[in-house]
Amino acid sequence: MDITTSINPANGKEIGQYKRISVQEATTFINQAHECFLNWKQTTFQERAFLLNQLAEVLETDLEKYAQMATQEMGKTIGQARKEIEKCALVCRYYADNGAHLLQNENVATEAKKSYVTFQPMGVVLAIMPWNFPFYQVIRFAAPALMAGNVAVLKHASNVQGCAFLIQEAFEKAGFPKATFTNLNVDSSAIETLIEQDKIVAVTLTGSEKAGRSVASVAGKNLKKAVLELGGSDAYVILGDADLEKATDLAVFGRLQNNGQTCIAAKRFVVVEPIYNDFIAMLTQKMAAAKMGNPLEETTFYGPLARIDLRDELHDQVEKSVKEGARLLLGGVIPQQDGAYYPATILADVNPGMVAFDQELFGPVAAICKAENEKHAIELANKSEFGLGSGVFTSDVAKGEQLALQLEAGSSFVNKLVVSDPRLPFGGIKNSGFGRELSGYGIKEFVNIKTIWVE
Ligand code: NAP
Repeated sequence: MDITTSINPANGKEIGQYKRISVQEATTFINQAHECFLNWKQTTFQERAFLLNQLAEVLETDLEKYAQMATQEMGKTIGQARKEIEKCALVCRYYADNGAHLLQNENVATEAKKSYVTFQPMGVVLAIMPWNFPFYQVIRFAAPALMAGNVAVLKHASNVQGCAFLIQEAFEKAGFPKATFTNLNVDSSAIETLIEQDKIVAVTLTGSEKAGRSVASVAGKNLKKAVLELGGSDAYVILGDADLEKATDLAVFGRLQNNGQTCIAAKRFVVVEPIYNDFIAMLTQKMAAAKMGNPLEETTFYGPLARIDLRDELHDQVEKSVKEGARLLLGGVIPQQDGAYYPATILADVNPGMVAFDQELFGPVAAICKAENEKHAIELANKSEFGLGSGVFTSDVAKGEQLALQLEAGSSFVNKLVVSDPRLPFGGIKNSGFGRELSGYGIKEFVNIKTIWVE
């Protein structure tokens, strides 16, 4: 039987097996989802909001069960897993409270008796999701999509199928009609055939650039709407007048949260020359003090990477960067222990052309780049194929805002790490993808923005 196996990355032990389904079986589910859509699209915003609020309650009631599954399947610390589930509930309530308002008709004054824009649901949306926030990434897409009247089928990452089935169970427990949300445990090689099907009207992918390119090309060939939330190599510019204590505290958190596997994590620190050595000294001392360990222990600051192959890939990127001239100041050695652990690592003197500058480092590795001055810092920050998040640290907030406007990214924060907040749009430019999630922009990605003219 074709199965997917979940392996606990903290100890390498098998924790679950899930049956893969064939393309034919997936097609049956997609057809059921389409049948469900024909009724679901007739429901009122009030009915959908009621169910989203119920979902928030289910998530909170069973929070510990969900958090434990996330930690065991992909290694995030249990505290961060609990916060992830809380954030899912927040997103559900945000769209329950605001969905109707965000999608209300917009009257436009023209020569017509009446002309307006209305937002109609599209149908069955296929969501392809990653393992790094196994609950949040799915809910961030599904809550607005369902509130808008669509239904969803999910192809989740193969290593978090326990989470995937628990999400489906949560929708069912909340009282959503059968097939409004369905987990399809298919192999990623089936994606092309699924996107080609008539009943799939759109696709959203959160994941790597490679998967994004593949899905975008299939979606393009089939003229299906696509949203892509891809990787990043987020730059944080640290100016000479920055509060170094705060900047390094946030840098440590930004680089180690979720074991370094966050798309919007601070990945490159572009530091101006006068404070370069001070920043490095402070960061090294704080990163060295962060406790790596069993993610189920409450005192652990960061756990293992999600899989051994991902750990080995990261280590390879670190070794290549060192060969290219980066200075290894901390970590960089695979520990002799079970599990996919990788220590907090610092690479200094990272320059364009090095792997640590050009590629995404998806793990607890900080790349530090020296900038001659502010102008050079912005140039270095923007010299990336990615453009997801970015930040500026300075005590001159007006200047910080001006520089934030110059950073090439979907989000630029001043004196704060980039976070995803349901009230604000989230997404990237360049190779970080296109389209937006969250806020009014996110809920309008999967609707027919329709013009009505009455003469
Ligand atoms: P991934 O390898 O691209 O996998 C993401 C999803 O795509 C999984 O469900 C995967 O299935 C599927 N997939 C892989 N190759 C595919 C293909 N050729 N066609 C269709 N589907 C395919 O990414 P990941 O390692 O799970 O996640 C890490 C990446 O996601 C990082 O680059 C990170 O920055 C990015 N990310 C971005 C955001 C954002 O909001 N911008 C958020 C989180 C993560 P299998 O598991 O079966 O391979």
